Amino acid sequence: MANTEDRFKKIIAHCKEYGFIFQSSEIYDGLSAVYDYGQNGAELKNNIKDYWWKSMVQYHEDIVGIDAAIFMHPAVWKASGHVDAFNDPLIDNKDSKKRYRADVLIEEHVAKLEEKIEKEVRKAEKRFGDTFDEAMFRKTNPRVLANIEKIADINKRFVKALEADRLGEIKALIEELGIACPVSGSRNWTDVRQFNLMFSSQMGSLNDGASQVYLRPETAQGIFVNYLNVQKTGRKKLPFGIAQIGKAFRNEIVARQFVFRMREFEQMEMQFFVRPGEEKEWYEYWKEERMKWHLALGIPTKHFRVHEHEKLAHYANAAVDIEFEFPFGFRELEGVHSRTDFDLGAHQKHSGKKLQYFDPETNESYVPYVVETSIGLDRMFLAIVSHAYNEETLEDGSQRVVMNITPALAPIKVAVLPLMKKDGLPEKGREIFDTLKYDFLCQYEDKDAIGRRYRRQDAIGTPYCITIDHQTLEDNTVTIRERDTMQQERIPVEKISSIVADRIRLRP
Ligand code: ATP
Repeated sequence: MANTEDRFKKIIAHCKEYGFIFQSSEIYDGLSAVYDYGQNGAELKNNIKDYWWKSMVQYHEDIVGIDAAIFMHPAVWKASGHVDAFNDPLIDNKDSKKRYRADVLIEEHVAKLEEKIEKEVRKAEKRFGDTFDEAMFRKTNPRVLANIEKIADINKRFVKALEADRLGEIKALIEELGIACPVSGSRNWTDVRQFNLMFSSQMGSLNDGASQVYLRPETAQGIFVNYLNVQKTGRKKLPFGIAQIGKAFRNEIVARQFVFRMREFEQMEMQFFVRPGEEKEWYEYWKEERMKWHLALGIPTKHFRVHEHEKLAHYANAAVDIEFEFPFGFRELEGVHSRTDFDLGAHQKHSGKKLQYFDPETNESYVPYVVETSIGLDRMFLAIVSHAYNEETLEDGSQRVVMNITPALAPIKVAVLPLMKKDGLPEKGREIFDTLKYDFLCQYEDKDAIGRRYRRQDAIGTPYCITIDHQTLEDNTVTIRERDTMQQERIPVEKISSIVADRIRLRP
């Protein structure tokens, strides 16, 4: 598929057609940037959660999991800095009336310059062949150097302006760079304004002085405020981690790109509490550990890249994005952040409660430092689905759409398919299904020709199809068909469960 936009549209359509993702409230024309997961989507999502939870909580004996409430005391969001600083700078184009994030417009401009550099390098590589010294070329080529300098200059000015909240300078930069609205093509921009992304509501009845509450914009704060509860009741020694999966809400200014940027989404976050001074070491450890987790899913390394932050959030002393190559380009999938003692320190100050840890090895009390890994579950879902979606032309010239989802994550693990709907084959199929369903999520299907049933299972990513034929009735064997290769082999009925379990096992 040459056209990536086209491919993305096909993936979205496929997700709907096969019960992975529906637009929220579709019969009322949908609610912008809110989505519902269908019967197959919910399974895939649960399997991703399960893989993450097991990798964090079960495979690391120093990590435990919690499940905090979405609502929290409003003072939490004051202490965390979200009330005052969880803003995005927005800008409107006066001609198209479209709204953009000013920082994204600038980042996209920088990405174009980076692309130019890469093109220059690839061109030279072709020209010089084996003798090409890429590092030297990057250091000496005048056009590459000029673009590197431009990027550095833009980043510096942008970060400075943003940090000092000088929004006029951001607008000036957009104008100076000649950034045009992709819809109208014009450079007719409004001023840049700050927009707080938190949703708020009232708790209690208005008559008795209801208090303003927020829908949490991240799950992390639920971990911070419970850190001491877990440390004490779990008798945890530093370093240890707390993991959590849960909903988060952000009133995103520009919410396009399907489940990549939603207003209600789910996060899988882990906060690792360490001794002050050891945070950089743990930051490196978690960066590596998280990349391993992604690669264990079998998606090739070339689809990932890491991007160290130039502009650090107010709470961080190091931060990296793990980016994935989505159908619309490389974008953030996960963040690994060294958050210092900012959050615990702020909660200690605002709540007036001590959040210190007494270190029995050093006999000192201190506020721990934190290294966080934070991944969007819906973005992970999109990464998996967009990589898995494939259109294939088979040897006989026919087409199939197959979702090559890592078997351990596939919604349905086994489809049980009697070859024909007669001669006792359905009864035998039911018998097999009724045993297998205790081991895996299975589907029984006896309608339509077997080929069509295989295609339907391919389209939802079912890794194994079990076919019952006349021979099954004679010798109690079935064929097992593998989704990706479409190879079939004969195996005894009593071995189906152990063979499938063996083949779908996933270890990070
Ligand atoms: P972005 O720069 O794309 O807005 P962010 O840097 O604000 O993301 P974080 O605050 O670091 O994101 O959140 C951690 C993770 O949560 C992100 O890596 C992403 O996977 C996920 N996430 C954040 N915002 C959204 C959203 N609106 N929809 C879906 N997932 C999101």
